[in-house]
Amino acid sequence: MKKKRTAGTISWKEAYALNKRALCLWLRECPAPFLSAGLYSAITALGPYLTIYFSARLLDELAGAKGQGRMLRWVVLLLAAEAVVSLLRALSFRWKEAQSSTIYYRGEERLSRKILTMDFAAAEDTDTSDLLGRIQQRENWTGWGMGMVYVFFQSFLEEAFRMLGAGALTVSLFCLPVPREAGFLTFLNNPLCILGLTVITVGIAVLASYLGTLAQMRLLRHDESMKMGNRNYFFCMSLFREEKRALDMRIYRQDVFGTEKVRQTADIDGGFTSSMAKDAKGKMGVLYAFSAAVSKSLMWAVYLFVCLKALGGAFGLGSVTQYIGAITAFSGGLSGMLRVLGAMKVNSDTLKMTFAFLDIPNEMYQGSLTVEKRSDRKYEVEFRDVSFKYPHTDCYALKNISLKFRVGERLAVVGQNGSGKTTFIKLLCRLYDPTEGEILLNGINIRKYNYREYLSIFSVVFQDFQLLAMELGKNVAAGDRADRRWGLLVSDRNKRPGRMEGNGRETEGDYDREKAAECLEKAGLSQWLSARPGGLDTILYKDLDEKGVQISGGEAQKIAIARSLYRDAPFMILDEPTAALDPVAEYEIYTRLNEIVGDKTAVYISHRLSSCRFCDEIIVFHEGSIVQRGSHERLLAEGEGKYKELWNAQAQYYVREQKKRRQKGS
Ligand code: ADP
Repeated sequence: MKKKRTAGTISWKEAYALNKRALCLWLRECPAPFLSAGLYSAITALGPYLTIYFSARLLDELAGAKGQGRMLRWVVLLLAAEAVVSLLRALSFRWKEAQSSTIYYRGEERLSRKILTMDFAAAEDTDTSDLLGRIQQRENWTGWGMGMVYVFFQSFLEEAFRMLGAGALTVSLFCLPVPREAGFLTFLNNPLCILGLTVITVGIAVLASYLGTLAQMRLLRHDESMKMGNRNYFFCMSLFREEKRALDMRIYRQDVFGTEKVRQTADIDGGFTSSMAKDAKGKMGVLYAFSAAVSKSLMWAVYLFVCLKALGGAFGLGSVTQYIGAITAFSGGLSGMLRVLGAMKVNSDTLKMTFAFLDIPNEMYQGSLTVEKRSDRKYEVEFRDVSFKYPHTDCYALKNISLKFRVGERLAVVGQNGSGKTTFIKLLCRLYDPTEGEILLNGINIRKYNYREYLSIFSVVFQDFQLLAMELGKNVAAGDRADRRWGLLVSDRNKRPGRMEGNGRETEGDYDREKAAECLEKAGLSQWLSARPGGLDTILYKDLDEKGVQISGGEAQKIAIARSLYRDAPFMILDEPTAALDPVAEYEIYTRLNEIVGDKTAVYISHRLSSCRFCDEIIVFHEGSIVQRGSHERLLAEGEGKYKELWNAQAQYYVREQKKRRQKGS
């Protein structure tokens, strides 16, 4: 059985290294929240000592000489110190709060950036998604992870400053001796008494924090069950809220089952019946309670020592409040600091997972050759005896593929499900490298090119394309800004010069509106667009804006086609480009495909063989190999073959459909 990893298996040395690395990473990426937290901690922790000090002096004066001038001075100083500290604390708090709100987003951005920049093979790997799932699970459940490093940093500094201030105010307690006249109370001057008080103070702080850490470590025991609990909770809650499920939910009362499941597994409020909820009410709760109680048990020793020294005449009444306040604060600071150290160790387990994710290496070879910018679009791609196996699999998804794309040619890729069509496109876009053989661009292995540059020669409409819930125009021009940043746009036709901001960046949303409208028109959306009062600024979907328009699958697919046209790359890849279109829209697109594609080299993947007839060449995939190739007419004339088999199967289906429709009509 696999041994479960817990914080207990991480040594202090490793925990220190992990926390140090996390802190350095934060300080490098966004230091401002840490600076503001440091300043706020210093003011919060040290500020109260000014008050303690000045009130002690005032009390001393009241209990002693009662000089009016001196009393007034202490009062003024006390009030001034209070006012200045409050003001500084309020200001630094605002700054800290504003800065700290960025921590969550920066953390999320870091994880997303990693996913986007890692090898596609690693991003698709289930181990990667499981690891990311666990990291986010921990963040959602307990807040553990990189974000916690910020919280610990702030708490650690606060406690350290608290101890520093308290220590400074306590020094004189040990220096001021009880006078001889006090008789037996002079035993308090014995260094053993001071040692005893120190041992009790430190011992109680250590014990309180140890009990607190033990309680925290128990949380990890519930990691697995809480993972399922959290999943159940979010899964059920999102089901309850989904618009498209509202009817099912009401008719079959699926919410009853879902709520029951959540109550059994989630930890909400500890009021439920999960193992975590039981522990919170049992051992874990008791440990937390003892930790809090033990830290308070220090008070008797402090009161006894300080009051006896005052009784013996070592110092005045005012100093009693000062010393008791200072020692209690010192002990609280020490146990707080130790608790933070313990929590940092517990958090190390999540940091280890986070770094395991961030350290996933990019193993694909990164070339540096630039792709030649050619206005004649003469980019020739060749597959030379390419075979491919997906990672962790034994069988070939593609076997001995050899073919050359001729410039400006329309190539159709057909075949049954699982025959390797999508894998072929993934290799073409270098999402994976071939296991055997090579792919060449203008005679050079594509591995040698700068990957971003290589990708810029392709426009792809994927079957499961994604649009964003933002303006239509920005959706169409997506990638434009990124491409320009990389200096990659092959065609710069009609481009308006970008407005530049003071910082040298182009303003958001700056794209070629005329070209975007033209592409939408080519994709068959001119009427739809003219019916939108917002035009290109129409927001898609309602996720982020209630004024957004809900678009149909067919409209979305046309927008995706317009987006690929806007990119204006020499290669256009269309993976089932009309799957979501109604027959009229499909016919419309296909009759204008030649116009849409223009002088580009195009690759179509389609199940519908009738829609591939206009292509110059059709390639038939079967079980990962090319089994036939040629024009539609030639493939049909070849006699029995995969293409004819697929064609006949589809023809029969169409004939049956037509018959049914005719019967219904009559
Ligand atoms: P098609 O696009 O023709 O439907 P695919 O290229 O998607 O076919 O799949 C070809 C073969 O590769 C299938 O056997 C499929 O199960 C397998 N395959 C596809 N994607 C993966 C993956 N990420 N990991 C492992 N095997 C995969």
